[in-house]
Amino acid sequence: MKKRVLITGITGMAGSHLADYLLKEEPGVEILGTKRWRSNTHNVAHLGKTVKLVDCDLTDAVACINLLKGFRPDYIFHLAAQSYVLDSWVSPAATITDNIAMQLNLFEAIRSCEISPVIQVALSSEEYGKVYEHELPITEKNPLRPLSPYAVSKVAQDMLAYQYYESYGMKTVRTRTFNHEGPRRGEVFVTSNFAKQIAEIEAGLREPVVYVGNLEAKRDWSDVRDVVRAYWLAVNHCNYGEEYVIASGVTRTVDEMLQLLISQSRVKIEIRVDEARLRPSDVRVLHGDYSKFKAATGWEPKISFETTMLDLLDYWRMMLKSGAVTTSAATTSR
Ligand code: NDP
Repeated sequence: MKKRVLITGITGMAGSHLADYLLKEEPGVEILGTKRWRSNTHNVAHLGKTVKLVDCDLTDAVACINLLKGFRPDYIFHLAAQSYVLDSWVSPAATITDNIAMQLNLFEAIRSCEISPVIQVALSSEEYGKVYEHELPITEKNPLRPLSPYAVSKVAQDMLAYQYYESYGMKTVRTRTFNHEGPRRGEVFVTSNFAKQIAEIEAGLREPVVYVGNLEAKRDWSDVRDVVRAYWLAVNHCNYGEEYVIASGVTRTVDEMLQLLISQSRVKIEIRVDEARLRPSDVRVLHGDYSKFKAATGWEPKISFETTMLDLLDYWRMMLKSGAVTTSAATTSR
């Protein structure tokens, strides 16, 4: 019998790549993905009828029960979230309550339907927040010192996944993933935002200026296609209830990432700081140590950062050429 896989947040970047990965590498699975009535389904349009999409706002407890009653998954990848750190400063209550409520509704629906799926919970390196130099690289043992409402919501999701394992034996796998990028990355995220601005400049749609925030922050970037491969390994090989760092193990500054993108471009570009892009408190450095996850699964990143960033830039070039997106305002930024 086919294994049934539920992907919450399939319309997002990671969810859509996970569906691509499973359809290619695990033909014996049947995939159901959740979307909202207002979701932009562009990221999953290419999947056609190979996956089933169902309308489900996970903040609605009854909708979650109906979802699981009908499908009874063997695996759940819980990716749905308000995932943008900057938005969490604007709407802290919505970010925290929604991210927690979605997971609680899902967990309670699992209990109510008396099913026993393996559940990967998408957690974040942002949970570590303030990290001192002597505490690097970050492992599962580092203290959690979240620095944004988004990070607090992810700590809560993390602790719920632990508590439901301890209290009910729920088969949770807690993946604390560092930044991952690639085609379909939302344009509000720094890598994608820079790539889109550059593609717009190349197309003559805006002045040759890229607007930036904090360029000094250091990040540990992986390719989303490596990460979704890691998620499948996680549900098949990791210990339930445990936390795992998934990272590339390499750090780069935001400035280095920007210079790499600019070096791929055909036009001369000026860089200008935009105060609106600075956060009240920013995570200074994220540098992960994925040895525990590697020991459990054998996973290692395969795709180079250069490939990831070029694919992201090409994605925006293609989106603009096809008219699938509108251009950003010429001088403002998020
Ligand atoms: P995206 O923002 O691209 O996707 C988020 C998804 O969640 C979208 O499909 C969105 O639907 C869905 N969603 C949001 N709210 C609800 C809701 N109330 N009910 C149902 N669905 C909802 O995120 P990514 O794909 O980048 O990330 C996936 C997960 O991984 C997230 O949990 C994120 O926090 C986490 N993560 C991501 C990292 C990264 O670098 N990408 C790093 C670490 C963790 P809609 O299309 O309707 O908006």
